[in-house]
Amino acid sequence: MAEQQWRLMGWDTFEGSAYPLTEHEDEEAAIGASRERLHALEISQPSEISGGQTGIQDQVFIIRPDGSRYRFQCDCPICNRPK
Ligand SMILES: [Zn+2]
Repeated sequence: MAEQQWRLMGWDTFEGSAYPLTEHEDEEAAIGASRERLHALEISQPSEISGGQTGIQDQVFIIRPDGSRYRFQCDCPICNRPK
């Protein structure tokens, strides 16, 4: 824990539990990894099947170096296509 890191945290909506993901040097890298993670989830847990954005699809949070966190939501057309 020598460096200040941006970290990703996964939230298992079905289990109601968090799990650690990757660590990154800056927010840009963290956002890129979050997007990749969400796209992998979209393949393994398609939102149409898992009930849309409020379904059981896992969520991805970005944790800032100061410990605060926010939910990452991808803004690409694939993740935001009309349901
Ligand atoms: Zn996306």
